[in-house]
Amino acid sequence: MKAKVGVYVCECGPNISEKIDIDRILEALPGLEEYRDIELVVKRFGLLCSGDGKTFLEDEINNNGLTHLVLGACSPRDHDKTFIAVCKKTSLNPFLYKIINIREHCAWIIPDKDQATDKAITYMRAGINRVLFQSALMEKKLDINPDVIIVGGGIAGIEASLSLAAKDRMVYLVEKDDHLGGKAVLFGGLLPRQGGGSAKIREKIESVLGNDRIKVYLESELKNVIGFLGNFEVMVAGGEGGEERELKVGAIIVATGSGMSDPSALDGLKYSEADEVITSMDAERMFAKDGKISLKSGGEPKSVALIHCVGREEKGYCSRICCNYMMKIAGYLKDQSADMRVIEFHRGLCLPDKADQGFQKETEGRGVEFKRVRELTIAGTKVNAEGMDGKSEALDFDLVILAPALEPSEGTEGMAELLGVPLSESGYYQEIHQTTNPVATSIEGVFVVGAAHSPKGITDSMLFAQASAGKILSQLIPGGKITPEIKVSEILEAYCTGCGNCLDVCVYGAIYYDEGRGISVVNEAVCRGCGNCFGSCPSGALRTKHFTNTQLYEEMREAIR
Ligand SMILES: Cc1cc2nc3c(=O)[nH]c(=O)nc-3n(C[C@H](O)[C@H](O)[C@H](O)COP(=O)(O)OP(=O)(O)OC[C@H]3O[C@@H](n4cnc5c(N)ncnc54)[C@H](O)[C@@H]3O)c2cc1C
Ligand code: SF4
Ligand code: SF4
Repeated sequence: MKAKVGVYVCECGPNISEKIDIDRILEALPGLEEYRDIELVVKRFGLLCSGDGKTFLEDEINNNGLTHLVLGACSPRDHDKTFIAVCKKTSLNPFLYKIINIREHCAWIIPDKDQATDKAITYMRAGINRVLFQSALMEKKLDINPDVIIVGGGIAGIEASLSLAAKDRMVYLVEKDDHLGGKAVLFGGLLPRQGGGSAKIREKIESVLGNDRIKVYLESELKNVIGFLGNFEVMVAGGEGGEERELKVGAIIVATGSGMSDPSALDGLKYSEADEVITSMDAERMFAKDGKISLKSGGEPKSVALIHCVGREEKGYCSRICCNYMMKIAGYLKDQSADMRVIEFHRGLCLPDKADQGFQKETEGRGVEFKRVRELTIAGTKVNAEGMDGKSEALDFDLVILAPALEPSEGTEGMAELLGVPLSESGYYQEIHQTTNPVATSIEGVFVVGAAHSPKGITDSMLFAQASAGKILSQLIPGGKITPEIKVSEILEAYCTGCGNCLDVCVYGAIYYDEGRGISVVNEAVCRGCGNCFGSCPSGALRTKHFTNTQLYEEMREAIR
């Protein structure tokens, strides 16, 4: 059948019509008909994206029996979706349509009308030639699984579980320890404004354990993951008998928390196991167990140094929560003995909220001293601090409590590899966008919440968990379907040498090596059609649908003819 291509040039009000001679484009194009043996329908229209414009296009496609559609208009960023929707209302496959940007690429950047028109004619001819080599692609609809797996049973994982569990949605909560609650249940208490004790956290744990739509796997870990948003298959191992079980879910939430760096490795801190030097986490555990702090040598301390920002410089980031929780620990010490000398050594306090600043005033009011230092070294419990005025002071304490920088939790690298999620420079999971989409990752359907994302307090960890739940609830509607990306890559078996280059460049983990056939294969359901692999293949075996070599070649050939 002879191709019948509808070519419509949009005036875009004065935007195109005043800068380009549209009639000259319409006159120039029919020359293509003899050369390509096609039939062209060529017209202009005021505003193609308006209601009238869309109806006009729909009628043109139907009444003329068009096989292809080319529009000379604005940026595809603005209106590609608009015109794809128009095609979908007709019998024309939307992949046989193309928009050519003669507004931003010609009208708006070339002051001379003749030159702008010449360029627009070239673009239009190239576009028409390309569309003739495009193929009709058929969208698939896949059933979605609304269930969710959450890895990590700290407060973030707990909050996400409670936000998602519902009659028509099962939540699987996988925790590597033998209890839920993460770090928060190991503390002597929470910040005073958070209610002090951890009763609220325990209430949430009870709600999880009592919810028949949440299945908890303790002492368990994720072993394998394949699939994509709406259809993941994951292997969980552990629990009684170290059993392995396969779970099918639609989304994965990573809530594995953060770890604490090892302060003993830092220059300037010289102490041994025998010295009365402990970390903030050790102090929290002691208060949780005994309600007070004791020295290794027995007895109670009369003077305590709290050292902030241990390892902050080496890590290159602020752990954000330490200033607050160190003041909480100072409060415990003052509760233990109001006469105890407690000094907090810091390099500038991180107190972003009004409530934090109020807390600092309150702590100071209880007799806790705050000393801002430029340099600080410790040798056992001897602290040498250089103040901001350059004066040094040597003090000896009964006990030193360090606040080591937080870091990604153990196993983060392995988990990132398993999920195909990249890590940031500081080693935490990389979100899609720090400001506009902080909970999602580059793998659709995989979310990161709580301290696994970056150092955070409990409130922010819970907010992240609720945000990810919101995203999942809107994406995985029970009974719903999803349309996977259709412009994906494929590997032509006959050309693939199995060199594996493409496996390294695919950040989505969409390519796997088929041992039996000795070639690489694209998992089309996971592929996002980014095209990275296309350029990496030395054998020309890779093709990205809707962006093939032939299509590019034909477009360029017409442009320079
Ligand atoms: C000393 C100290 C005191 C603090 N005090 C306060 C405070 O008073 N108030 C406050 O708001 N914040 C406080 N924080 C911060 C608080 O700890 C975090 O905000 C909170 O723990 C983050 O919760 P989470 O669920 O993201 O991580 P976590 O509490 O760390 O929980 C992560 C969970 O994931 C599990 N896990 C890890 N890896 C895996 C894996 N591969 N598979 C399965 N499970 C895994 C862990 O076992 C853990 O149970 C304090 C932090 C410290 C270090
Ligand atoms: S186009 Fe290639 S690199 Fe990009 S997601 Fe698909 S397989 Fe991976
Ligand atoms: S880069 Fe090309 S030849 Fe090498 S494995 Fe991938 S598809 Fe095959």
